[in-house]
Amino acid sequence: MECYNTRSIVSGGHSVESNRRRKIECTTYSSSAAAVPVSQLSLTTHVENYPGFPDGIMGPELIENMRKQAQRFGAEFKAGAVTEVDVSKRPFKIIAGKDSYEARALIVAAGASARLLGLRGERELIGHGVSTCATCDGYFFRGKPIAVVGGGDSAMEEANFLSRYASKVHLIHRRNDFRASKIMIDRAKANEKVEFVTPFTVEQIFAPQGHVEGVSLRNQQTKETREIPLDGVFVAIGHDPNTIVFKGKLEMDSNGYLLAKHGSLTSIPGVFIAGDVQDHRYRQAVTAAGSGCMAAMDAEKFLEEHKG
Ligand code: NAP
Repeated sequence: MECYNTRSIVSGGHSVESNRRRKIECTTYSSSAAAVPVSQLSLTTHVENYPGFPDGIMGPELIENMRKQAQRFGAEFKAGAVTEVDVSKRPFKIIAGKDSYEARALIVAAGASARLLGLRGERELIGHGVSTCATCDGYFFRGKPIAVVGGGDSAMEEANFLSRYASKVHLIHRRNDFRASKIMIDRAKANEKVEFVTPFTVEQIFAPQGHVEGVSLRNQQTKETREIPLDGVFVAIGHDPNTIVFKGKLEMDSNGYLLAKHGSLTSIPGVFIAGDVQDHRYRQAVTAAGSGCMAAMDAEKFLEEHKG
């Protein structure tokens, strides 16, 4: 029996073990080409909130541990970008460039990509002062001034969260109006460590020694420029779920997040979803792993019930 999982990090140990017992071949298809999204965990430095690691663990190391654990139970990994899927009938077809695969069950765990500002050097500075995850990296900015960029609920939430650690949080937004809900704005405004800096865009991140030392901003109305010395820039301008290949094939909300029915089930029997591809709220490695375990159990049950 075969099932395919379109991303690497979410199979729980329980499901892998039972796959071996029941002789289910499981292939994990992950993206590694430069042009396609890489997993958010691989861009994370210390993961402090994954249970079982009292001293935290580096994101890439956690991925490698999960990979080895899955391999021990027979999972096979293929790297590449999925370019097309056909879920109209079983076996489902998964096309990745020149390769094509058939699967009797499919778990979509393609994740979501945090949007970046598109500034020069920004991506390379992830882990060196630039972050897209306050809960993952906030701890490293104890007593230091930082910025959060964005004007939505995520930016407000992250600014408040980061004020626990940072000496000061500059909340930089390109407009004077905010997309965030009133209650979230009010909470951030009431926080004495948070200073609103609007309407400014970030033009440059300074990192002469390879780690963030400041930003240069431009006022969108007056065009004046301003520089702020700081140690960290948290980019909170939204996420994009990696669901383009499933458009028109699986149900999704207006932001492209896949819609789950009862846990990991979709409207297509045999197609299951897990992780950030269906979750814009929690977005943690541990919640993704938990939902991956649910999807694996659901896929296993489905394959048991649809033998032959
Ligand atoms: P969002 O609502 O789409 O807000 C993104 C923000 O980033 C906007 O203010 C946008 O500015 C700004 N932005 C986008 N691209 C930019 C760029 N290139 N340069 C500078 N700024 C840029 O995203 P979100 O805050 O991640 O929220 C996503 C969803 O999750 C929302 O529905 C939100 O309500 C929900 N959420 C809820 C909670 C909560 O309730 N606790 C927490 C987090 C998220 P403009 O406004 O000018 O376009």
